Amino acid sequence: MKALVKSRAEVGLWVEERPVPDIGPEDVLIKVRKTGICGTDIHIWNWDDWAARTVPGGLVTGHEFAGEIVAMGSRVQGLAIGQRCSGEGHLIGKLSRQSRAGKFHLDPATRGIGVNEQGAFAEYLRLPAFNVVPLPDEVDDEIGAILDPLGNAVHTALSFDLVGEDVLITGAGPMGIMAAAVARHVGARHVVITDVNAARLALAAEVADVTPVNVAVEDLRAVMVRLKMTEGFDVGMEMSGNQAALDQMIEAMVMGGRIAMLGIPPGKSPVDWSRIVFKALTIKGVYGREIFETWYKMIAMLENGLDVRKVITHRFGVGQFEEAFEVMRSGQSGKVVLDWG
Ligand code: ZN
Repeated sequence: MKALVKSRAEVGLWVEERPVPDIGPEDVLIKVRKTGICGTDIHIWNWDDWAARTVPGGLVTGHEFAGEIVAMGSRVQGLAIGQRCSGEGHLIGKLSRQSRAGKFHLDPATRGIGVNEQGAFAEYLRLPAFNVVPLPDEVDDEIGAILDPLGNAVHTALSFDLVGEDVLITGAGPMGIMAAAVARHVGARHVVITDVNAARLALAAEVADVTPVNVAVEDLRAVMVRLKMTEGFDVGMEMSGNQAALDQMIEAMVMGGRIAMLGIPPGKSPVDWSRIVFKALTIKGVYGREIFETWYKMIAMLENGLDVRKVITHRFGVGQFEEAFEVMRSGQSGKVVLDWG
C-alpha cells in the first residue's frame, strides 16, 4: 500500500510502498478515504526538536482520518465490514488509576497513531476496535477526517457552561475557529476571537457568527465596550500558546471567570499568579478528547446543525501532498484534507 512515511531524519515526508498492516483479534483494518493534516504533522514534517525526540524512524504519519472497515479480528463485536468510521488516535493503556476509573483520556501510557505508532496517512490503517467511532450518514468522510481536531475544540468548548455567557477565544487557528462555532451552537451570547493573522480572522467570521478582533491593530477593551460587556468575559479558551494572548485574556476576564487552555506555550512562560488569585479564576488544562464522551457530543451536534465545513479551505489528492503541506506551512490556511481515493 501507499503511505506517507518519515523515512529520513530531515525536513519532509516521503511516499513509500508498505505492506498492508496485519491485524490482531481485537483490531480492525480500515480503508482510509480522507485524512486531515494537523499542526502535529507539520512539526513532524519540519523535523523540529520535539519531532526528533518523539517520532521513530520509518513512521507512517497522520492521525486524522475517516474510512471504512474492510477486515475485523476474530474477537471484534458490534462493528461490521463496510461500516464508515473515524476513530480515536490515542491508544490507551488500561492499567492506570484514571483509565480504570473510565477516564481513558487521562491515561499516562497513551500512545498516538502517526506519532508513536503507525499512522493514518496510508491506504490502510490498523486500529483497535475499541478506538473505532462509527459515522452516521449525516457526517461525510471529509468531516469525518477532521473529527480529531473538532474533538479538541469540542472538549475545550464544553469544559465550562457556555449558555448565555460571553466567551473570549485567543487564537484563530482551525481549532479556535471550531471552538467558536461550538460556543455559538450551544448558546453563548458574545463570542470574541482574537489573533494577529487577518486571513484566519476572516475565516473565523465565515465559519461562525463571531466577533473577530485583530489585536495587532484593534483594542480588545474597545470591542468589549462596543458589545456592552461591562465586567469582562465569563469563559476564556486559550488556543494560541502565546504568552501575550494569555496575559490579555487574564486581564479581560470577569471576577471568578473560567479559562480552558489548549494552546501549548513554547517552554516555560512567566505568569502573574497574583492576578489569577485576586480574580479568583479557574484554569483547566485540556488534552485530547474525552474518550468517548467528546465523540458522542460532537457527532450529536453535527447531526443537530453544527456546521464547521468552511474551516476546510483546501482539498488535495494524495499525489499532491507536497503542495498540501506547503499550504499548511504557510499559516494562511484552515484545515487541509487529503483524498486517498
Ligand atoms: Zn490532529
